[in-house]
Amino acid sequence: MSRSAPDSCPGVLRLHQAADGPLARIRVPGGRLEPTQVQALAEAARELGNGDLELTSRGNIQLRQVGDAAALAARLDAAGLLPSPTHERVRNIVASPLSGRIGGWAEVHDLAAGLDAGLRADPRLAELPGRVLFTLDDGRGDVSTLRGDIGIHAVAADEFAVLLTGADTGLRVSASEAVEVMLDAARGFLDLRGAGADGQWRLHEIPGGVERVTEILDRSPVAAPLELGATHDIPIGWLDQDNGLVSLGAGVPLGILPARTAEFLAAVDRPVFLTPWRSLVLADLDEGPAETVVRVLAPMGLIFDATSPWLRVSACAGRPGCAKSLTDVRADLAAAVATDRVLPGDQRAGEVVVPAEEVAVAGRQHWSGCERRCGRPTAPVTDVVATPDGYRVTPPAP
Ligand code: SF4
Repeated sequence: MSRSAPDSCPGVLRLHQAADGPLARIRVPGGRLEPTQVQALAEAARELGNGDLELTSRGNIQLRQVGDAAALAARLDAAGLLPSPTHERVRNIVASPLSGRIGGWAEVHDLAAGLDAGLRADPRLAELPGRVLFTLDDGRGDVSTLRGDIGIHAVAADEFAVLLTGADTGLRVSASEAVEVMLDAARGFLDLRGAGADGQWRLHEIPGGVERVTEILDRSPVAAPLELGATHDIPIGWLDQDNGLVSLGAGVPLGILPARTAEFLAAVDRPVFLTPWRSLVLADLDEGPAETVVRVLAPMGLIFDATSPWLRVSACAGRPGCAKSLTDVRADLAAAVATDRVLPGDQRAGEVVVPAEEVAVAGRQHWSGCERRCGRPTAPVTDVVATPDGYRVTPPAP
């Protein structure tokens, strides 16, 4: 499979012209943000954008309706969020958010930082398509299931399975080898993909890509490949860290974080981890401050209750941000949540088409403004897709 158009993933230096104005996507490798960076993003959203931070399904941030692109780039550069103008769009790195704090075999956030540095240090790797995704899973299985192009998955304290297209190759590496092996796999992908506009964007699009990259890595499989099942392990609420401190997992309705809420988060002065489930984790809190954070931020809309219906739903941008959308999907979904039409349990009914105000769906669901279904999770969901006659509701295959 090859493409007829060049990869057009937005960044900070190349904005996407969305229907509601210029959109910037800010890569956050490993999802980790320092408090000063959260503050800088909040100020940028309020003063240069539409006032919100959008959390993406790769743990990145988007700002909409960016009025002054040069000013945004300067601010992000000053905040350490634009360390390489040449490589900004290739820094797509997702890491297990709780790694090193709660459970898991290994700490992968340091490896994520090492991978980011390694990507930026190789001029050729700036040619990676903006869609290539790296996943670093500490063994709990939360991000390996995102089907990244290149990844590692801890199987012991100092042993990682090498993943290609989300599948275990049977190769095993130590922590000290992991970054270089992922960089070699990225270089192998570049060697194999077609040139220029005809090049493939993802490894799975290259015929025999997994086998050919495995060959390039020049290592022998030493284990039977792991079966990596899909999970929906969203960290929500009070989470006791292994070191006695506390992390707070917070859901963010539709991934829209208002600048004011982000400023409160920054004021807590602790690291924030963005997750690929459009939520966040505020880490390293003492118990007292953690209780205060919940008391202050829950009324502002952050979700600390694992049973909230907001945690069962996701949606594409829809109108007004996307010209292809048939409707304002997020408004329709918010109305469904507000009127208790997002139900617990599993969706039983077969495919139906119903007006927006009558959609009532159980379980995990993704709402889309057209058939492209952007941002759809990889795990099974009920599809709720806008059509000219209402929403078509399609449960996952049994
Ligand atoms: S699914 Fe369709 S309407 Fe929604 S963001 Fe994607 S292209 Fe736009």
